[in-house]
Amino acid sequence: MVNWIFVGASTIAAQHMIGAVRAQSGHDVSWIVSGSASRVSRWAGDHGISNATSELSEALADDSASAVYISSTNEKHFAQAMAAISAGKHVLCEKPLALTPTEAAEMVKAAKNAGVVFGTNHHLRCSGSHRKVRDLISSGRIGKVLSLRLFHAVHLPENLQGWRINDASAGGGVIPDITVHDADVARFLLGEDPQDVVAQMVSSGMGRGVEDSAMSVWSMPSGAMVMSHESFTHPFAGSGLEVHGDAGSVFATGVMTQEPVGTVELVTASGREAIAFSGHSLYAQGVAEFVEAMSGTERPAADGVDGIKSLAVALAVRQAAQTGTRVEITYGE
Ligand code: NDP
Repeated sequence: MVNWIFVGASTIAAQHMIGAVRAQSGHDVSWIVSGSASRVSRWAGDHGISNATSELSEALADDSASAVYISSTNEKHFAQAMAAISAGKHVLCEKPLALTPTEAAEMVKAAKNAGVVFGTNHHLRCSGSHRKVRDLISSGRIGKVLSLRLFHAVHLPENLQGWRINDASAGGGVIPDITVHDADVARFLLGEDPQDVVAQMVSSGMGRGVEDSAMSVWSMPSGAMVMSHESFTHPFAGSGLEVHGDAGSVFATGVMTQEPVGTVELVTASGREAIAFSGHSLYAQGVAEFVEAMSGTERPAADGVDGIKSLAVALAVRQAAQTGTRVEITYGE
């Protein structure tokens, strides 16, 4: 049996990640750690988790647990991950890895030095749809990629309208929340890292002290342009992405989600073709690849460097919007 410690009694843990761990043969969640002593026992009971604590060190002292999943609010990821790494546990951490790329890099370096696996929970690159789009691009079906448009303006559900929209110190704002995912999607699909960005951001009705909407344009080393739109305030915008090449275009509709849904279409001179893709769970796939990495055979779907880079892009978007200037992205390499 492989036991996991979950740090953060969060929505994503309850809705997706407990199930994703339990979908792996021989894996279970044996601890839940929360900052709230009053919530943690009830939360453990609700989810069939045998141990509950408000002391991270108590859970980390359990030698029968070898993996830690961190889904607390963003400002806590750094210290919790560093403690888990020091205890010799493999760490799958939520995005954004930390509040700054420097902290994120420190986490990844510590994991490397400790010889433990470190993954970033970028679920979109685990989806059948995104993987199919990447295959279409890499197999040359659309020719040379000219542009990528990312549509990720959603309506934040009422139950999540807490720290994300009113607490900058907890890492709130749409940019650390959603732009990080879009940065990872662009890197995953195009196989290159954004070079520089221009951007604007606003608070359009939900954000209090943090941005709730952002639009940005990124240049890629190949010359391709990326256009990215994120928001918490758009009830009917839908989500998706389009990749345009000189020999074809891919339209992936409704695919910037947590579920294996949406459609993918390829349009070329030969006409319009519906593209089938796997309907596996995004989160179970991500955990499965992390588990493979724990056994030393594969790398996680998104590793620590992927998490550092997605954060670097997102924070460059925010800096570009704040300053009204083009910001060159430094990845600390
Ligand atoms: P939540 O707001 O649901 O939970 C975050 C923290 O808030 C919890 O860890 C918990 O603190 C506290 N909390 C949660 N519910 C309550 C409550 N009812 N009363 C009091 N405190 C509460 O956050 P999310 O699940 O939306 O996000 C958590 C992390 O996961 C973030 O880093 C986010 O960016 C990431 N995320 C990633 C997704 C992905 O697809 N990869 C999707 C959604 C989120 P405590 O730690 O003390 O238990």
